[in-house]
Amino acid sequence: MKHATVFFSIVFLLLHLAGPAFGDELGKNISGRHTSGRYSWLYGYRIYLDENRLLVRVGIHLVAAPGVTGVQLAGVQPEWEKEIEGVWSNRFALETQNKTYPIVVDAVFKGPSLQHDVIVLPGGGRRTDELTWHIMDSPQTAAHEFGHMLGLYDEYMGGAVDPLQKIIDPGSIMTSAPVAGTSRIRHYERFRQWFRTETGEEYVKLIRLKE
Ligand SMILES: [Zn+2]
Repeated sequence: MKHATVFFSIVFLLLHLAGPAFGDELGKNISGRHTSGRYSWLYGYRIYLDENRLLVRVGIHLVAAPGVTGVQLAGVQPEWEKEIEGVWSNRFALETQNKTYPIVVDAVFKGPSLQHDVIVLPGGGRRTDELTWHIMDSPQTAAHEFGHMLGLYDEYMGGAVDPLQKIIDPGSIMTSAPVAGTSRIRHYERFRQWFRTETGEEYVKLIRLKE
């Protein structure tokens, strides 16, 4: 091999050893607005597809309101992140005729392109919505609000329910004040649709990975 060929082979190899290339150029931004009665909110995330998985990444910029310290915020953020990813990530997968793509969901709180500015108020127990959180909000509440960022509606009476298909489900993460809510297979339908359009695959099924 010529030196140049060897060099480029090594570069190529190193790029692959570095793991899946989830460079910004590969991702696609998905965003829009949902309205339900008096509620209206913006959803938004970045979606990446490679040969091993579908990655959905949501960037959240936490902004401390007066009365909340940076130390408090730094303390609670990892707990929120852990629950968000526990509820949403690696729960379901997309299955084609010859491959399975786990749906990996990643919440990031640092970086240049965070889609959502969330004000974090002191205290807790008051009304939290997609972009207004409280420092004492439970990790499950954070995971619920994250669901809205993914484009999901509430699933409880009086909430921002889907006007076309109202769903009430006390066991869902999208219920009111969830304590043991989980993500449901229907919550991933938009990712299945996106995948079908993106790949042109006819047969794409959502499957459960674990409880
Ligand atoms: Zn909600």
